[in-house]
Amino acid sequence: MVRRSRVHGNGCFARRFIPKGTRLIEYLGERMSHKEADRRYADEDDSNNHTFLFIADRRTVIDATVGGNEARWINHSCDGNCESEIEKSRVFIDARRDIEKGEELGYDYQIGRDKSDPANVDQIYACRCGSPKCRGSMLWPPKRKRKAAAKKRAPARKSAPRTARKGKGKGKTRARA
Ligand SMILES: [Zn+2]
Repeated sequence: MVRRSRVHGNGCFARRFIPKGTRLIEYLGERMSHKEADRRYADEDDSNNHTFLFIADRRTVIDATVGGNEARWINHSCDGNCESEIEKSRVFIDARRDIEKGEELGYDYQIGRDKSDPANVDQIYACRCGSPKCRGSMLWPPKRKRKAAAKKRAPARKSAPRTARKGKGKGKTRARA
């Protein structure tokens, strides 16, 4: 399932057709507190965007660097064919639509923003997923620089994607110095 991706380093690709709704894999790794995760990566350079951390809930972060499985190689996509689902603070990756054999898997990392982010954080976490809906960044929520445009577009969208509505406190995270 894992091989080099055109998007970013390694990636995961469907070996066969996968119907919508299929639970693909659990995001595994060492479970720890947010504090411990921060401590572990405190020395990390701000510009390092390779992170295997995932927020399972308010108390728990999963670090796939230790005991992680193939789930850690699934790349971010702004409009991916997968989505992350959290159930009882376990993280699963599900197919959010039918996936053809050979397609690269991707889901929205929704990396949270933080007051201590460097000014160029959107560049560090730049997205080149190639989707027409690409927001250019793995961070969530999108940077609000064109409020009016966003407002105008909103009514056209019947419902926000399931993953987007959950908001803060889920999704991938990263180390902060
Ligand atoms: Zn994108």
